Amino acid sequence: MAILQSFSELVHQRQHRESTKRSRPVETEVTKLEVKNLNFFYGEQQALFDVSTTIAERSVTAFIGPSGCGKSTFLRTLNRMNDIIEGTRLNGQVHLEGQDIYAPEVDVVALRKRVGMVFQKSTPFPKSTFDNVAYGPKIAGQRNHKVLTEIVEQSLKRAALWDEVKDRLNESALALSGGQQQRLCIARALATNPDVLLMDEPASALDPASTARIEDLIFELKQNYTIAIVTHNMQQAARISDWTAFFFQGYLIEKDHTQRLFTTPTKKQTEDYITGRFG
Ligand code: ADP
Ligand code: MG
Repeated sequence: MAILQSFSELVHQRQHRESTKRSRPVETEVTKLEVKNLNFFYGEQQALFDVSTTIAERSVTAFIGPSGCGKSTFLRTLNRMNDIIEGTRLNGQVHLEGQDIYAPEVDVVALRKRVGMVFQKSTPFPKSTFDNVAYGPKIAGQRNHKVLTEIVEQSLKRAALWDEVKDRLNESALALSGGQQQRLCIARALATNPDVLLMDEPASALDPASTARIEDLIFELKQNYTIAIVTHNMQQAARISDWTAFFFQGYLIEKDHTQRLFTTPTKKQTEDYITGRFG
Protein backbone atom coordinates (compact mmCIF):
# COMPACT_ATOMS: atom_id res chain seq x y z
CA MET A 1 0.00 0.00 0.00
CA ALA A 2 1.42 3.36 -1.06
CA ILE A 3 0.91 5.21 2.21
CA LEU A 4 2.45 2.41 4.24
CA GLN A 5 5.43 2.36 1.93
CA SER A 6 6.10 6.04 2.37
CA PHE A 7 6.05 5.59 6.16
CA SER A 8 8.50 2.80 5.74
CA GLU A 9 10.81 5.10 3.82
CA LEU A 10 10.62 7.74 6.53
CA VAL A 11 11.49 5.17 9.16
CA HIS A 12 14.38 3.88 7.11
CA GLN A 13 15.79 7.35 6.65
CA ARG A 14 15.67 7.82 10.40
CA GLN A 15 17.26 4.48 11.08
CA HIS A 16 20.05 5.27 8.68
CA ARG A 17 20.67 8.56 10.40
CA GLU A 18 20.62 6.79 13.70
CA SER A 19 23.07 4.10 12.67
CA THR A 20 25.58 6.79 11.76
CA LYS A 21 25.21 8.28 15.23
CA ARG A 22 25.01 5.50 17.75
CA SER A 23 23.84 1.99 18.02
CA ARG A 24 21.93 0.63 20.93
CA PRO A 25 20.72 -2.90 20.50
CA VAL A 26 17.05 -3.33 21.29
CA GLU A 27 17.75 -6.05 23.84
CA THR A 28 19.52 -3.61 26.16
CA GLU A 29 16.40 -1.47 26.45
CA VAL A 30 15.38 -0.49 29.95
CA THR A 31 11.79 0.28 30.93
CA LYS A 32 11.51 3.82 32.29
CA LEU A 33 7.75 4.05 32.74
CA GLU A 34 5.26 1.27 33.10
CA VAL A 35 1.51 1.82 32.99
CA LYS A 36 -0.75 -0.94 34.26
CA ASN A 37 -4.50 -1.22 33.76
CA LEU A 38 -5.05 2.51 33.81
CA ASN A 39 -8.61 3.87 33.78
CA PHE A 40 -9.19 7.60 33.82
CA PHE A 41 -12.39 9.58 34.39
CA TYR A 42 -13.49 13.19 33.96
CA GLY A 43 -16.43 13.11 36.35
CA GLU A 44 -18.71 10.39 35.02
CA GLN A 45 -17.04 10.30 31.62
CA GLN A 46 -14.34 7.68 31.19
CA ALA A 47 -11.51 8.85 28.94
CA LEU A 48 -8.99 5.99 29.25
CA PHE A 49 -9.86 2.30 29.39
CA ASP A 50 -7.54 -0.30 30.86
CA VAL A 51 -4.38 1.10 29.31
CA SER A 52 -1.23 -0.95 29.88
CA THR A 53 2.07 -0.12 28.23
CA THR A 54 5.74 0.60 28.81
CA ILE A 55 8.00 3.45 27.77
CA ALA A 56 11.64 2.59 27.15
CA GLU A 57 14.45 4.70 28.57
CA ARG A 58 16.34 7.04 26.23
CA SER A 59 14.01 6.51 23.35
CA VAL A 60 11.17 8.37 21.69
CA THR A 61 7.69 6.89 22.04
CA ALA A 62 5.01 8.54 19.93
CA PHE A 63 1.30 8.46 20.77
CA ILE A 64 -0.96 8.87 17.77
CA GLY A 65 -4.69 8.66 17.16
CA PRO A 66 -7.65 10.80 16.15
CA SER A 67 -8.63 13.92 18.05
CA GLY A 68 -10.36 13.18 21.34
CA CYS A 69 -9.02 9.63 21.68
CA GLY A 70 -7.26 10.36 24.98
CA LYS A 71 -3.65 11.08 23.96
CA SER A 72 -3.27 14.26 26.01
CA THR A 73 -5.13 12.75 28.95
CA PHE A 74 -2.79 9.79 28.87
CA LEU A 75 0.34 11.94 28.64
CA ARG A 76 -0.82 14.00 31.63
CA THR A 77 -1.27 10.86 33.74
CA LEU A 78 2.51 10.31 33.43
CA ASN A 79 3.39 13.32 35.59
CA ARG A 80 0.09 13.74 37.43
CA MET A 81 -0.76 16.90 35.50
CA ASN A 82 -4.41 15.77 35.52
CA ASP A 83 -4.42 16.13 39.32
CA ILE A 84 -5.00 19.84 38.85
CA ILE A 85 -8.22 19.27 36.86
CA GLU A 86 -11.17 19.12 39.22
CA GLY A 87 -13.43 16.08 39.31
CA THR A 88 -10.93 13.68 37.76
CA ARG A 89 -10.01 10.27 39.14
CA LEU A 90 -8.07 7.29 38.02
CA ASN A 91 -7.30 3.75 38.94
CA GLY A 92 -4.50 1.48 37.86
CA GLN A 93 -0.81 2.21 38.18
CA VAL A 94 1.96 4.28 36.69
CA HIS A 95 5.45 3.25 37.71
CA LEU A 96 8.53 5.40 37.15
CA GLU A 97 11.61 3.24 37.56
CA GLY A 98 9.49 0.81 39.52
CA GLN A 99 7.99 3.42 41.88
CA ASP A 100 4.25 4.08 41.83
CA ILE A 101 3.92 7.81 41.08
CA TYR A 102 0.39 7.82 42.57
CA ALA A 103 1.54 6.45 45.93
CA PRO A 104 0.49 8.75 48.80
CA GLU A 105 4.05 9.62 49.82
CA VAL A 106 5.04 10.91 46.37
CA ASP A 107 6.09 14.58 46.22
CA VAL A 108 4.20 15.75 43.12
CA VAL A 109 6.35 18.86 42.65
CA ALA A 110 9.50 16.74 42.62
CA LEU A 111 7.81 14.27 40.28
CA ARG A 112 7.01 17.02 37.76
CA LYS A 113 10.65 18.11 37.82
CA ARG A 114 11.72 14.59 36.95
CA VAL A 115 8.99 14.27 34.35
CA GLY A 116 8.94 17.60 32.55
CA MET A 117 6.27 18.72 30.11
CA VAL A 118 6.15 20.80 26.95
CA PHE A 119 2.80 21.84 25.49
CA GLN A 120 1.45 22.52 22.03
CA LYS A 121 1.26 26.25 22.49
CA SER A 122 4.57 27.59 23.70
CA THR A 123 4.00 29.36 26.96
CA PRO A 124 6.96 31.55 27.89
CA PHE A 125 6.45 33.69 30.96
CA PRO A 126 6.43 37.45 30.24
CA LYS A 127 9.99 37.63 31.50
CA SER A 128 13.46 37.63 30.00
CA THR A 129 14.85 34.54 28.30
CA PHE A 130 17.26 34.14 31.21
CA ASP A 131 14.50 34.34 33.82
CA ASN A 132 12.31 31.89 31.93
CA VAL A 133 14.99 29.22 32.04
CA ALA A 134 16.14 30.07 35.58
CA TYR A 135 12.57 29.97 36.87
CA GLY A 136 12.41 26.28 37.86
CA PRO A 137 15.82 26.15 39.57
CA LYS A 138 14.99 29.39 41.43
CA ILE A 139 11.68 27.98 42.66
CA ALA A 140 13.62 24.92 43.78
CA GLY A 141 15.78 27.20 45.94
CA GLN A 142 18.81 27.87 43.76
CA ARG A 143 19.94 31.43 44.53
CA ASN A 144 23.56 31.39 43.40
CA HIS A 145 23.76 33.57 40.30
CA LYS A 146 26.83 31.81 38.94
CA VAL A 147 25.13 28.42 39.20
CA LEU A 148 21.93 29.80 37.64
CA THR A 149 23.96 31.28 34.78
CA GLU A 150 25.53 27.90 34.13
CA ILE A 151 22.17 26.12 34.22
CA VAL A 152 20.66 28.66 31.81
CA GLU A 153 23.54 28.32 29.36
CA GLN A 154 23.57 24.54 29.48
CA SER A 155 19.78 24.24 29.13
CA LEU A 156 19.69 26.64 26.19
CA LYS A 157 22.52 24.73 24.53
CA ARG A 158 20.72 21.44 25.01
CA ALA A 159 17.59 22.98 23.51
CA ALA A 160 19.61 24.18 20.49
CA LEU A 161 18.73 27.80 21.19
CA TRP A 162 21.88 29.21 22.80
CA ASP A 163 23.51 30.60 19.67
CA GLU A 164 20.37 32.48 18.73
CA VAL A 165 19.76 34.11 22.12
CA LYS A 166 23.10 34.34 23.91
CA ASP A 167 23.46 38.05 23.15
CA ARG A 168 19.97 38.94 24.32
CA LEU A 169 19.36 36.84 27.37
CA ASN A 170 17.86 39.77 29.23
CA GLU A 171 15.35 40.69 26.56
CA SER A 172 11.75 39.56 26.80
CA ALA A 173 11.16 35.98 25.72
CA LEU A 174 7.95 37.15 24.09
CA ALA A 175 10.04 38.82 21.38
CA LEU A 176 11.35 35.45 20.19
CA SER A 177 9.83 33.69 17.17
CA GLY A 178 7.30 30.90 17.69
CA GLY A 179 9.88 28.20 17.02
CA GLN A 180 12.38 29.85 19.36
CA GLN A 181 9.72 30.16 22.07
CA GLN A 182 8.98 26.46 21.80
CA ARG A 183 12.70 25.63 22.16
CA LEU A 184 12.78 28.03 25.11
CA CYS A 185 9.98 26.03 26.74
CA ILE A 186 12.04 22.89 26.16
CA ALA A 187 15.07 24.62 27.75
CA ARG A 188 12.88 25.64 30.68
CA ALA A 189 11.80 22.03 31.16
CA LEU A 190 15.43 20.84 30.90
CA ALA A 191 16.61 23.35 33.52
CA THR A 192 15.10 21.31 36.36
CA ASN A 193 17.15 18.34 35.20
CA PRO A 194 14.36 15.89 34.28
CA ASP A 195 14.85 12.31 33.08
CA VAL A 196 11.60 12.21 31.15
CA LEU A 197 10.16 14.79 28.76
CA LEU A 198 6.48 14.70 27.84
CA MET A 199 5.63 16.66 24.72
CA ASP A 200 2.05 17.28 23.66
CA GLU A 201 2.01 18.22 19.95
CA PRO A 202 5.09 20.42 20.45
CA ALA A 203 5.39 21.36 16.78
CA SER A 204 1.81 21.53 15.60
CA ALA A 205 1.64 25.32 15.81
CA LEU A 206 4.97 25.82 14.01
CA ASP A 207 5.99 26.38 10.40
CA PRO A 208 7.83 23.56 8.57
CA ALA A 209 11.33 24.96 9.21
CA SER A 210 10.72 25.35 12.94
CA THR A 211 9.10 21.92 13.03
CA ALA A 212 12.21 20.40 11.47
CA ARG A 213 14.37 22.06 14.12
CA ILE A 214 12.20 20.65 16.91
CA GLU A 215 12.33 17.21 15.33
CA ASP A 216 16.13 17.38 15.09
CA LEU A 217 16.25 18.49 18.69
CA ILE A 218 14.08 15.59 19.86
CA PHE A 219 16.42 13.27 18.02
CA GLU A 220 19.38 14.76 19.92
CA LEU A 221 17.64 14.80 23.28
CA LYS A 222 16.82 11.14 23.33
CA GLN A 223 20.50 10.36 23.88
CA ASN A 224 19.97 11.64 27.41
CA TYR A 225 16.25 11.71 28.04
CA THR A 226 13.22 9.47 27.77
CA ILE A 227 10.72 11.18 25.50
CA ALA A 228 7.00 10.60 25.12
CA ILE A 229 5.42 12.70 22.39
CA VAL A 230 1.83 13.12 21.32
CA THR A 231 1.43 14.00 17.68
CA HIS A 232 -1.47 13.93 15.28
CA ASN A 233 1.11 13.97 12.50
CA MET A 234 1.87 10.38 11.55
CA GLN A 235 4.77 11.33 9.29
CA GLN A 236 6.33 13.06 12.26
CA ALA A 237 5.88 9.94 14.40
CA ALA A 238 7.49 7.85 11.66
CA ARG A 239 10.39 10.30 11.36
CA ILE A 240 11.30 10.69 15.00
CA SER A 241 10.02 7.83 17.15
CA ASP A 242 11.43 4.45 18.06
CA TRP A 243 8.08 3.23 19.31
CA THR A 244 4.58 4.21 18.28
CA ALA A 245 1.35 3.60 20.16
CA PHE A 246 -2.06 4.04 18.58
CA PHE A 247 -4.96 5.23 20.73
CA PHE A 248 -8.58 5.00 19.68
CA GLN A 249 -11.62 6.00 21.74
CA GLY A 250 -9.70 5.80 25.00
CA TYR A 251 -8.13 2.41 24.30
CA LEU A 252 -4.50 1.77 23.50
CA ILE A 253 -5.09 -0.40 20.47
CA GLU A 254 -1.53 -1.29 19.54
CA LYS A 255 2.03 -0.34 20.36
CA ASP A 256 5.07 -1.56 18.50
CA HIS A 257 8.40 -0.54 17.04
CA THR A 258 7.57 2.39 14.80
CA GLN A 259 8.75 0.53 11.72
CA ARG A 260 6.46 -2.39 12.44
CA LEU A 261 3.43 -0.39 13.46
CA PHE A 262 3.50 1.57 10.22
CA THR A 263 4.27 -1.32 7.92
CA THR A 264 2.68 -4.39 9.48
CA PRO A 265 0.08 -3.31 12.03
CA THR A 266 -1.68 -6.25 13.61
CA LYS A 267 -5.00 -4.56 14.38
CA LYS A 268 -7.50 -3.54 11.75
CA GLN A 269 -8.22 -0.22 13.50
CA THR A 270 -4.52 0.69 13.35
CA GLU A 271 -4.33 -0.14 9.68
CA ASP A 272 -7.48 1.83 8.92
CA TYR A 273 -6.03 4.85 10.72
CA ILE A 274 -2.57 4.84 9.19
CA THR A 275 -3.92 4.29 5.71
CA GLY A 276 -6.16 7.30 6.19
CA ARG A 277 -9.46 5.48 6.14
CA PHE A 278 -10.64 7.55 9.10
CA GLY A 279 -9.50 10.15 11.62
P1 ADP B 1 -6.68 13.96 22.46
O1 ADP B 1 -5.51 14.59 23.12
O2 ADP B 1 -6.39 12.60 21.89
O3 ADP B 1 -7.32 14.84 21.46
P2 ADP B 1 -7.95 14.27 25.06
O4 ADP B 1 -7.14 13.48 26.01
O5 ADP B 1 -7.79 15.73 25.06
O6 ADP B 1 -7.79 13.67 23.59
O7 ADP B 1 -9.49 13.99 25.34
C1 ADP B 1 -10.00 12.68 25.58
C2 ADP B 1 -11.46 12.80 26.03
O8 ADP B 1 -11.51 13.43 27.29
C3 ADP B 1 -12.32 13.63 25.09
O9 ADP B 1 -13.61 13.08 25.06
C4 ADP B 1 -12.34 15.00 25.77
O10 ADP B 1 -13.53 15.68 25.47
C5 ADP B 1 -12.27 14.63 27.23
N1 ADP B 1 -11.59 15.68 28.00
C6 ADP B 1 -10.34 16.14 27.79
N2 ADP B 1 -10.01 17.10 28.69
C7 ADP B 1 -11.09 17.25 29.48
C8 ADP B 1 -11.41 18.08 30.60
N3 ADP B 1 -10.52 18.95 31.11
N4 ADP B 1 -12.64 17.95 31.16
C9 ADP B 1 -13.54 17.06 30.68
N5 ADP B 1 -13.31 16.25 29.64
C10 ADP B 1 -12.12 16.33 29.04
MG1 MG C 1 -4.58 16.45 22.76
